Amino acid sequence: MNTLSRTPHLKLQEMCDCYLETDFSKQLKAMVSSKSTDFMEDGFKYLALVLLEAITEKASALVLTKQNNSIKVTLKGPDPQIELPSPSPEIMNTITTIIREILHLEEDKGKSPLTLGLKNSRLDLLVRVKKDNEEESLAIEFPELETKTFVARKPVMPAKGKTEEGLTHWKCGKCNFTFTAQSLPEKCPVCDEKCDFLNITCYTPECGGSGNIDPRLR
Ligand SMILES: [Zn+2]
Repeated sequence: MNTLSRTPHLKLQEMCDCYLETDFSKQLKAMVSSKSTDFMEDGFKYLALVLLEAITEKASALVLTKQNNSIKVTLKGPDPQIELPSPSPEIMNTITTIIREILHLEEDKGKSPLTLGLKNSRLDLLVRVKKDNEEESLAIEFPELETKTFVARKPVMPAKGKTEEGLTHWKCGKCNFTFTAQSLPEKCPVCDEKCDFLNITCYTPECGGSGNIDPRLR
């Protein structure tokens, strides 16, 4: 599939950043009760919202299964486990496409790590995909606590060893203005755009770690 203009990993990351400070539980409910006009966009949005939900609930795994056209989305770990509002079959298909695309998983069954850089923290997830005639499933496993505390909807404490270099660099999706901010900006200081910000912070050693801009994203 080549319909994705930006890398899907980055897009997912942006969506998570964008909804991080919103009431994502409410967003999720609103989203499943309205009809989708853009499956690709909504696939990313749904995935971001359930990931944030899983982190907030300190789930050990987020499991999406589709059997015929019946879809179930469950958070494992909390006791009792939590059922999340299910997406439409079209959005479920988009989600599996996105995940397989991000992780380059082409076989019916496979697993791969997925790293998300949220705020000043790095989240290392493990994704398993499985597909057979009757069922398709996607399981995302979360690391143990400590790394999860950052999603509390409060000011985020800088991670150990990080001071001002933990600042996040943002690029406005509308006017391309780049600037730094602690968290996702409310609006662009130049053009007033809301929610369309690309996190261009470096999260890999190649560009020197956070505090720097990832030159590939500039
Ligand atoms: Zn702007």
